[in-house]
Amino acid sequence: MAEDADVIVVGGGLAGLVAATEIADAGKRVIVVDQEGEQSLGGQAFWSFGGLFLVDSPEQRRLGIKDCYDLALQDWMGTAGFDRDDDHWPKRWAEAYVAFAAGEKRDWLRAMGHLIFPVVGWAERGGYDAMGHGNSVPRFHVTWGTGPGIVEPFERRAREAQKTGRLTFRFRHRVDTLMMTNGRVEGVAGAVLEPDGVERGKSSSRKVTGDFTLRAQAVVVASGGIGGNHDMVRQNWPKRLGEPPKFMISGVPEHVDGRMIGITEAAGARLINRDRMWHYVEGIRNWNPIWPRHGIRILPGPSSMWFDASGKRLPAPLFPGSDTLGQLHYIMSTGYDYSWFILTQSIIKKEFALSGSEQNPDLTGKSWRMTIKRATNKGAPAPVEAFKQNGADFIVRDNLADLVSAMNALSGDNLLQLDHIKAQIEARDREMSNPYVKDAQVMNIHNARRYIGDKLIRTAKPHRILDPEHGPLIAVKLNILTRKTLGGFETDLDSRVFGANREIIPGLYAAGEAAGFGGGGVHGYRSLEGTFLGGCLFSGRNAGRAAAKAAG
Ligand SMILES: Cc1cc2nc3c(=O)[nH]c(=O)nc-3n(C[C@H](O)[C@H](O)[C@H](O)COP(=O)(O)OP(=O)(O)OC[C@H]3O[C@@H](n4cnc5c(N)ncnc54)[C@H](O)[C@@H]3O)c2cc1C
Repeated sequence: MAEDADVIVVGGGLAGLVAATEIADAGKRVIVVDQEGEQSLGGQAFWSFGGLFLVDSPEQRRLGIKDCYDLALQDWMGTAGFDRDDDHWPKRWAEAYVAFAAGEKRDWLRAMGHLIFPVVGWAERGGYDAMGHGNSVPRFHVTWGTGPGIVEPFERRAREAQKTGRLTFRFRHRVDTLMMTNGRVEGVAGAVLEPDGVERGKSSSRKVTGDFTLRAQAVVVASGGIGGNHDMVRQNWPKRLGEPPKFMISGVPEHVDGRMIGITEAAGARLINRDRMWHYVEGIRNWNPIWPRHGIRILPGPSSMWFDASGKRLPAPLFPGSDTLGQLHYIMSTGYDYSWFILTQSIIKKEFALSGSEQNPDLTGKSWRMTIKRATNKGAPAPVEAFKQNGADFIVRDNLADLVSAMNALSGDNLLQLDHIKAQIEARDREMSNPYVKDAQVMNIHNARRYIGDKLIRTAKPHRILDPEHGPLIAVKLNILTRKTLGGFETDLDSRVFGANREIIPGLYAAGEAAGFGGGGVHGYRSLEGTFLGGCLFSGRNAGRAAAKAAG
């Protein structure tokens, strides 16, 4: 039967766009099918902060950071903790991905016009030993232009290929089946959804107006993860993290529905590491939501004090920005699914960043004038101040007694006792007069300020939390925020998908979050951050190049 294209790509997110542009540029015909409308092109990446994991970059070197492949691989392996038979391909992907991040990734992007903000961030700092979890050095490179800035080069390439007829988009086409003949993928079939001009990121209509089939030599599944589907998140919730949270907010739009994962599995694809996922513990309810249950992640600097629901300080090294899943594990062990930051105006001003392109108009709008204000402004960035004023999880008070009483009222659990919280804050505050101290979080703050990037824009000058000069006091109720799927379809380095019998399914490829960002779980158990967009770039590129080559 006649083919509609050489390759069909399911999903117009970053991974799908990268794969499709590589296929088109190799001279093959490609169709990109997406259930959402054209206005949502780019998927989650558009909303992202645009943070990219790079190793030994010129930006790092300019800031005096010494990094190399061996150090990054040590960090990756310590973080991933690969320990399963199924980790064979994920581990190979990890080695290849770290080499990509230390090698051609930056130049490849730069040749397409991608630029990087010069101050490198330090995410997931760990705090264990040298072989444990975390980034030994700052590696989080923010795209100048954030999420839209990482989508732009690939959308541009896709539009150029569209003009020559090599690439076709089919928006509002929802894939419901992978068509198979004799174990080989032959195309996709599904429903045409009614047109919907809903704004990007908002939930769109699911009313079906027709059906479609499309045939090709190969199909690349780049349909994203499961983070928008809380039922699926709960079903796959890892036992090692305790009971799934009763209350969660969503860090991704509703189209991250995980449906295509089941459809691809039904066609015989081997899904591995489905119990590995990456959710944040510093989620705040968005006062101005775009998608259902919309939450924003605070990217915290190191100084806020962190308390569990009962008012006990989180143990070392679970400080802000150190170990996301370690914190999630601890919080779930308390029997409550929330925790608290207590901080000062001086800390929020310098240390709170919000993850998401729309929360960073300075970086997203590529405005140097606005961005410089991060270092010089008296208040916090405007989006942070807006949350402070309007956010349901924020409390601002002049004294600790009022703060704690408002925290009890907000949670409704009445678990916090003023004396208990006060004693812990005063003890920490006594450690502030010495640069050499025993409180590990305070040591961490001094360490952070030895890095020029943190000192400039990410770490407040050490001060006492109860010093009124730095007030008012602020408490933030932190919720669990769903985001990323770390497991996925098992693939080889060409992104070819394995079947249940551990043999490659001819014609089937997977990339991005659907492939666990490569191999079925390149991150293992945990991430070093900035590795998701990069995983889409690398796995999408490998899938596109391999599918184009195989298309003959
Ligand atoms: C707010 C936010 C901040 C982030 N910040 C960062 C960051 O700084 N650094 C980083 O590395 N990562 C970050 N991420 C994560 C990263 O953006 C995502 O993991 C990545 O973009 C996922 O891309 P993807 O192409 O795999 O999937 P998606 O972007 O989810 O795209 C999948 C596409 O497939 C379509 N689709 C799904 N099922 C079907 C079907 N059955 N038929 C047709 N179409 C279908 C969907 O509509 C969607 O368009 C962030 C994410 C968010 C939301």
